[in-house]
Amino acid sequence: MRKQDNYKDTNMQKETYDVVVVGAGVVGCSVSYHLAKSGLKVALVDKGSAAGEASQAAAGMLAPLGDEAPNQEHPLQQLGMAALGYYDGLDEQLKQETGIDIGLVDVPTLRPAFDEQGVAQLQALFTRQQHFLPGLQWLDGSLVHKIEPLLPETVQGALLSPYERSVQAARITLAYARGAAIRGAHLVEGCPVGRLIRQGQRVVGVETTQGPMYAGVIALAAGAWATQWHTRTSIPPIFPVKGQMMALQAPPSLHLRHTVYAYGVGGIVPKSNGTIYVGSTVEQAGFDKAVTAGGIATLLTVVAKLTPDLNRARFVHAWAGLRPGSADGLPLIGPSQSVQGLWIAGGHFRDGILLGPLTGHILAELIQKHSTPFGLDLQAFNPDRFGGWDSASSLT
Ligand SMILES: Cc1cc2nc3c(=O)[nH]c(=O)nc-3n(C[C@H](O)[C@H](O)[C@H](O)COP(=O)(O)OP(=O)(O)OC[C@H]3O[C@@H](n4cnc5c(N)ncnc54)[C@H](O)[C@@H]3O)c2cc1C
Repeated sequence: MRKQDNYKDTNMQKETYDVVVVGAGVVGCSVSYHLAKSGLKVALVDKGSAAGEASQAAAGMLAPLGDEAPNQEHPLQQLGMAALGYYDGLDEQLKQETGIDIGLVDVPTLRPAFDEQGVAQLQALFTRQQHFLPGLQWLDGSLVHKIEPLLPETVQGALLSPYERSVQAARITLAYARGAAIRGAHLVEGCPVGRLIRQGQRVVGVETTQGPMYAGVIALAAGAWATQWHTRTSIPPIFPVKGQMMALQAPPSLHLRHTVYAYGVGGIVPKSNGTIYVGSTVEQAGFDKAVTAGGIATLLTVVAKLTPDLNRARFVHAWAGLRPGSADGLPLIGPSQSVQGLWIAGGHFRDGILLGPLTGHILAELIQKHSTPFGLDLQAFNPDRFGGWDSASSLT
């Protein structure tokens, strides 16, 4: 049986929409929410469930500083800063509109250094970013240990960043999904999308296991799976990067006052439900999502290095998810030039929870031919930079 024979005609056959959004992660849910809010008829389609993949696996850190001292002028840095500001008031807005609390935790982030090289790197970051990130401060070792007693005494200094917060990744995603549904979007779960349906160079719909769905615009927000619709090239533009994490429950005597994040080591993130997330591995393992003994061993070294007293915390559970990595580390956002009516939003790698809400807003504005929000320069995120997009992908 050929793969397309899996597509069944159902009562969805004649359904037409202004926009079909493929993928109900944080990006697709935000796109759908913003389009539905503007009065467009939207279908949001997922092969599994809303917030079923990377957007439920994430630590939820809103941390645009990244892993190295970036250039303030870099488009990703500008997008990250705008995305962080975009969260201001978003928790209250979404709570009011949807009843969902996105679990925003307003504790500051501490980036500790344990040797001279680490101190030099963080101080360079501080020098470059102090005028852009409100409240950024350099703290010497003794002071760091005083404000965060769970850090080991070997800490040499730390960057304190009060504006970088964290959220519950699944909840922000589900809040957007519910917000979209409240405004009339049609959420279709358990419905893998296959080929794009084209008339000439223009996309007019998608095939799905529940029948074809038609729309003037298709927005692909399929996370690590997006390359399914890309023209075959030697370098896939978007690919899965596995991350394993675990949750701990600490007694009140081990109260963590900060998110602790160390370059090349990992992060310890206090969550709104009282658990502490420990993350995360970075693995090239295809679409495998198994939690492994080696993964847990890595996470235990993160605890031992950053907050050794948390060795006494109770292990709650562990999980793995697939980040949508991109070939040059930058997201893909905007219209495809190769297929008219096709829009792409993906490849947000380790920052999709930070960038997803704003990305959804941007894509929704551009689809409606409005100007780019916040005057952001999106050229570096051109989705065709690795080659064209393709209608001929089959259901996998
Ligand atoms: C361990 C870990 C820790 C992380 N920590 C952070 C963090 O602290 N901060 C941060 O900002 N980011 C973090 N991230 C990254 C973040 O989770 C991702 O960048 C973000 O969730 C990507 O969102 P998305 O909507 O693009 O993809 P996803 O959430 O993966 O959503 C894509 C959706 O598309 C659907 N789909 C795929 N193919 C099809 C198809 N053929 N038909 C229909 N539907 C389809 C999938 O089922 C899925 O639901 C982390 C990720 C991991 C794994």
